[in-house]
This record gives sequence, structure tokens and C-alpha cells, in this order.
Amino acid sequence: MKIFACGNCENPVYFENTACMSCGATLGFVPDTARMVSLDDDGSATLIGADASTRYVKCRHHARDDGCNWMIRHDDIDHDGYCISCRLNHTIPDLDVPGHRALWHRLEAEKRRLVYACLQLGLDVSPKEVREDGLAFDFLADPDPSFSERGRVLTGHDAGLITINIAEADPAARIRMREEMDEPYRTILGHFRHESGHFYWDRLVAPTAWLDNCRQLFGDERQDYGEALEAHYTNGPRPDWRDHHISSYAASHPWEDWAESWSHYLLMLDTLDTAWHFGVQTSPRRVDSELLESDLQRPPYRENDFDRLMAQWMPLTVALNCLNRSVGQEDAYPFALAAPVIEKLRFVHRVVRGLPL
Ligand SMILES: [Zn+2]
Ligand SMILES: [Zn+2]
Ligand SMILES: [Zn+2]
Repeated sequence: MKIFACGNCENPVYFENTACMSCGATLGFVPDTARMVSLDDDGSATLIGADASTRYVKCRHHARDDGCNWMIRHDDIDHDGYCISCRLNHTIPDLDVPGHRALWHRLEAEKRRLVYACLQLGLDVSPKEVREDGLAFDFLADPDPSFSERGRVLTGHDAGLITINIAEADPAARIRMREEMDEPYRTILGHFRHESGHFYWDRLVAPTAWLDNCRQLFGDERQDYGEALEAHYTNGPRPDWRDHHISSYAASHPWEDWAESWSHYLLMLDTLDTAWHFGVQTSPRRVDSELLESDLQRPPYRENDFDRLMAQWMPLTVALNCLNRSVGQEDAYPFALAAPVIEKLRFVHRVVRGLPL
């Protein structure tokens, strides 16, 4: 993700900011241009373009309770005043329940990161209400706060509808689930990325010429999904999963392998993009003992050469982990990429960019 600057004083600001910490200006993010703008007193901002100027107003969710910092064109009246991210919501949690609003806001912040990435990659993010095979989100709470198995909301995807259990936004609950499920990497953003992988598989792989190649690489997804998952949870992952899959869960079924690989590709790209914009260049002298063409010539979201991306990625992850260890934190990147996993990421890269196999 690139570095954003306050539209008023140019001070760097975070993607999530609703105000500048330096000059106090009220801020809004314009997804059309991926720019952070400072707002006028009436909560609007006007961007001067080459031919015309465009006025933007706060997303309804932004205006109401700062639950979003995105803007919409003032004449965009088709979505009840919601921005391109908020309009994807099908169900939101009951905000009268104490604590729900804070959990929901955390989820929305991570969802905007997913939507940002999709926009950068030119992926369609039309809501279901506009397009039948579009995207929608249900943010649901467990009926029983003790998270008993019965009635528990399962995070998942079904024909474009992504369900997220809002407990995932509660750090204590997420860490407990991380331990229970033995998933060293369990993040809210990871959930969004993973579930979006299922959504885009339906759009970009299933009905296209990519399907045969996908089956060769990830396996045949027509094997029984329910049985495969039950076997995964009953018997544990196959012992050699690290040689073929990015995570143990990816070994459960080809669909999950795809979704985990997709998620990892988005993670890689966004992290590379952040590093690129901050001028963080690693020296990837040794990747398979070869000197690779490693210098990125353009922002990673625009880079079509997968090997260049990967040549940057490997040493960057080591640097990331070393930095984290220096500040006394766990590894930011608890993964090792086996050769077949890299080929799966390459495949995702080609599908996303529409590159020939
Ligand atoms: Zn400022
Ligand atoms: Zn919004
Ligand atoms: Zn999945």
C-alpha cells in the first residue's frame, strides 16, 4: 500500500486516519484516485482534474459515526450514500449490543484494505445488489457469547456472500482460536483475503480456460468438500503439507488450497507495495543461488514479472522477521515457501493479471 499524505499539510497519514495528527484537518479517502484529501467545513472535498473538477462527499457510514473514512462522488446516488466498500454490506451486527460497534469498525477497516487491493488489481467489486454474481458481506455475531459449537457463526463464502464472525475482530477470541486451530497466522485481513479467494475463483477460474490448469496445480475441486474438511479436522493435515501447500489448512481441499494461495498472493503484493513506496529495497543476492533480476521497475501492483516480485519478496520477509524480533515481537511472516507453493502463487498472479500461462 502506498504512503498517504494529508491533503492539507502533506504530512504522512495512515490509510485509516479520519484526521491529520499534524494539522488537525479532517481527512477522507477517495477510492477513485487512491488519494487522501482534506475536507472543507461542510465535509466535502473538490478534486481538480485535467478537464473538470469533481466534488466528493463523505460515505454515509463516514458521516454518521466515523466508521469509515472513504468518500463518494456527490452525484453517486445509487447506493444510499455508501462508499464502494460499505455498499458491499448485506448484514451488519446489532449495534445496540455493547461492544459490537467497535468490533464491526475493526472489520470494516480491514475490509477497506481488501477493497483497496482489489481496486489496485482492477478486480470487479460490484455489490450483489447490482450484479447477481457480485459480492456481499454478512457480519454476524454468535448467538451465544461463550462460542459454543451449536449455532456458532462460521466464517465462510457462499456464492458471493462472505460471512465473517465478528468475534474475529476481538483479539482475545482470535488468539484463542489461533491456538485451538493451530494456525500461527490468523488475522482479520487474512480472513477477508481468503474468502475473497473463493469469490474470485467462481468468477475468474471456474467459468474460464484457467480451470484445467488450476486442477493440475491445486487438485480436482470436485472431490467431496464436506468429507475432505471432516477428514482434515479429524485426522489433521497430511504430514508433508509443507512441501506442497502454503498452510496446513490449504492441504484440506483444492478450493482451500486456492483460497489460501490467493490470500497469500494479496498479502505478498500489498507488503511489497508498502516496502516499495517507503523505498525499502532488499538485496536479494541469493535466491536459489542465482542472481535474479530483482529491482522492481514499477509499483508491485503494476509489475507483471512474477520473478521480480518473488526475488524481492524472499529477502524482504527475512528482513521483516528480523525487524520484528528486534522489537521483541513474534515473526511477522511465519511461512516457508516450497517450490510448488511458489508455482501456485505464480498461477494466481497470472489469473489476476490475465497473463498467458
Ligand atoms: Zn495535515
Ligand atoms: Zn464507507
Ligand atoms: Zn476457505
